[in-house]
Amino acid sequence: MILQDTADQAALRAAVRELCEGFGNAYWRDLDLQRQYPEAFVKALTEAGYLAALIPEEYGGAGLGIAEAAVILEEINRSGGNAAACHAQMYIMGTVLRHGNDDQKRRYLPAIARGELRLQAFGVTEPNAGVDTLKTATTAKRRGDRYVVNGRKVWTSRVQHSDLMLLLARTAPPDPRDRTYGLSTFLVDLRDAPPGMIEVRPIRTLMNHETNEVVFSDLEVPAGNLIGEEGSGFRYILDGLNAERLLIAAECVGDGRFFIERAVAYARQRIVFDRPIGRNQGVQFPIARAHAAVEAADLMRRQGSGLFDLGKACAAEANTAKLLASEASWQAANVALDTLGGYGFAHEYDVERKFRETRLYITAPVPNNLILAYVGEHVLGMERSF
Ligand SMILES: Cc1cc2nc3c(=O)[nH]c(=O)nc-3n(C[C@H](O)[C@H](O)[C@H](O)COP(=O)(O)OP(=O)(O)OC[C@H]3O[C@@H](n4cnc5c(N)ncnc54)[C@H](O)[C@@H]3O)c2cc1C
Repeated sequence: MILQDTADQAALRAAVRELCEGFGNAYWRDLDLQRQYPEAFVKALTEAGYLAALIPEEYGGAGLGIAEAAVILEEINRSGGNAAACHAQMYIMGTVLRHGNDDQKRRYLPAIARGELRLQAFGVTEPNAGVDTLKTATTAKRRGDRYVVNGRKVWTSRVQHSDLMLLLARTAPPDPRDRTYGLSTFLVDLRDAPPGMIEVRPIRTLMNHETNEVVFSDLEVPAGNLIGEEGSGFRYILDGLNAERLLIAAECVGDGRFFIERAVAYARQRIVFDRPIGRNQGVQFPIARAHAAVEAADLMRRQGSGLFDLGKACAAEANTAKLLASEASWQAANVALDTLGGYGFAHEYDVERKFRETRLYITAPVPNNLILAYVGEHVLGMERSF
């Protein structure tokens, strides 16, 4: 099997690249300085239909696969942009598609595809649970035809720029016979929330990333917004992780290519000691090594996406791709910074901004330690490490 773009994927890549050219690095740089959301970019991406890539055609989307969604996100990051402003819509939407009922799909998916609704927020992480999601303490208690939600989430990104939030909350106490039982997923319509029931506290981070602490106080969610079966929500979240990991890997590959392109261009034109710095092995070889790491990660990402789109098991590939791609983009980021010397630190060269942005993917949406634990246990058959 040759792992490269099909003709359709190559055409999609070219079209996304063209759209991104309308939002050059100066655009992203200014937003970074002002810590603002890329509203115009997300609007253009939505209008072009790219954020509805994974929504089936019967609901008004493009009906494409993860491989195509990956091309879109990779190109955004490769251009110097940051797909984190909107990537979650692609993988959150899969939960509604796979586990939502017909009414929910008809109610939300066409409106998301048309760009009238945004499903960008994903409320899973909690301050006291961290990566141990089964310790989720936010509760959703059934009262008649509603659930009443109380609790606190942290790092809920894009909630200020989303209409809907996929929320994980506890509907029953943990069951010792099935540790995963008792959590449920809800599609919360943030527009319906009366004042005071959702408090959003923005968190300023290393990079321009809209993320928040969110406090729920007696928030009422209609029972019709429960996704799938009550108590099975953890399984639905796990079900979406392969898509998430493959798409994050694609963004990292895009970042990696951005850094390599910048490093190569600079190494070829910067003259020190009367020669281009790229003629020195000490400069050239680290760039070549980082390039090799990015390309290898891309192959794993392509393998995982191919399996995913065929409906085959791909957790080993998706986890490995996320690990390799996040490490490769971070390696490339450091190499680009080294190559640009002092200018690597200057905002106007964009490398320091992208350096900050790509670092996130070693830690989130899942830390690489947890990926290694998955590979150790589920791929290699060693004892569970936690
Ligand atoms: C900018 C940003 C945006 C985010 N957006 C979202 C979002 O939209 N929605 C959402 O739900 N979450 C989001 N997250 C949360 C993200 O998924 C978590 O930060 C991440 O999973 C780590 O959780 P934590 O910080 O609580 O780490 P902790 O659980 O406190 O862990 C801290 C460190 O210890 C390590 N560790 C813990 N246990 C083990 C173990 N058994 N073995 C080895 N190492 C271990 C972890 O790998 C980690 O490095 C975001 C985070 C950030 C920083």
